[in-house]
Amino acid sequence: MNQPIPYGRQHITDEDIAAVAEVLRGPFLTQGPHISAFETAFASYIGCQYAVAVANGTAALHLCCMALGVTEGTRVITTPITFSASANCVRYCGGEVHFADIDPETALLDINAVRTLVEQHPKGYFSGIVPVDFAGYPVDLAAFRELADAHGLWILEDSCHSPGGSFTDSQGVDHRCGDGSLADLAIFSFHPVKHIAAGEGGMITTNDEALYKHLMRLRTHGITNKPGEFTEPYPGEPERGGWYMELQELGYNYRLTDMQAALGNSQLARAEAMLARRQAIAKRYDDAFAGTPAVTIVPPDNVSHAYHLYVVQVDDRKGLYDFLRTRNIMAQVHYIPVHLMPYYRQFGWKPGDFPNAERYYARCLSLPMFPTLTDEEQAYVIASVLEFCR
Ligand SMILES: *Cc1c(COP(=O)(O)O)cnc(C)c1O
Repeated sequence: MNQPIPYGRQHITDEDIAAVAEVLRGPFLTQGPHISAFETAFASYIGCQYAVAVANGTAALHLCCMALGVTEGTRVITTPITFSASANCVRYCGGEVHFADIDPETALLDINAVRTLVEQHPKGYFSGIVPVDFAGYPVDLAAFRELADAHGLWILEDSCHSPGGSFTDSQGVDHRCGDGSLADLAIFSFHPVKHIAAGEGGMITTNDEALYKHLMRLRTHGITNKPGEFTEPYPGEPERGGWYMELQELGYNYRLTDMQAALGNSQLARAEAMLARRQAIAKRYDDAFAGTPAVTIVPPDNVSHAYHLYVVQVDDRKGLYDFLRTRNIMAQVHYIPVHLMPYYRQFGWKPGDFPNAERYYARCLSLPMFPTLTDEEQAYVIASVLEFCR
């Protein structure tokens, strides 16, 4: 292959470009009609009641932590195998990040490890859990909800990898990732490498009206211009003018632009087809690597995996990474365990704390996975991996 094959790549069509150009010719560049159109369409795709568009996935996580009341000393549990933003959001609010190990069968936060951790402490010690649908594999939120309810914890689902993913619980009920049926809040990212590209962008989804209203205010500085939400009259002005608005608490400017919303919304129209293509690519990898030293995670029948990533686990991961680079295949590693990052090491986390996560990291490699990967390119990737593993 002459052109390098990345592990992920956005897909921009003429329709996408036209949608953005139309915004540029119109009156609104930011916070115009495409924001609410994107929010409505996204909520309908995900199957939740409310959606709040924000500047990026990390901003979404930050605002969620604020809305959930994370503050100095609030203790929150997450997985070490995730992008560091899943943990950093707690730190932005002054909270303490605690980790629990992953389940090697799924590479997801291990509910038994979380249960053990929670039960070692008095009630109220921990406040919440940030489970991550890592690689696109939906976390069993039915089980996490039960645990969270028993201990008074909230759940913030990091669904950046899993738009369109779902699972069927033991009662036969389907839950789409981020649909608000089990988590208090969920977040998505529209970074170009994710399912839906907006350049930068994020979305918060929920079924909780109070959290929704709070998040809408936090997104624009903590200001409201809705008369029903006003608290104090301006001193000496018995009647409020039409210009009146209130800064009610300290928020941020985490708005998405209308250009990005138009791009995201245009991409969303193809989301179902792009997800199906990801799943077809995964099936072909699954079949090719079955019974070989390239170990893969194949989900059970009740799980519909969204395949942001397709990961193989091998003994000589660095060898495979380097070999694939010589073949112009730009495989990547997801993720270096968050607890071993220098920033988190200062809190006392150390090698050996989470053996399953550390073993997973030592073996994992993300192969090319994006809807426009051609059959020919995939065959070349498969042949190269198998040649190395022989
Ligand atoms: C991409 C990602 C984020 C952050 O999203 P940005 O839009 O890049 O800020 C958070 N969590 C996970 C798991 C991600 O993959």
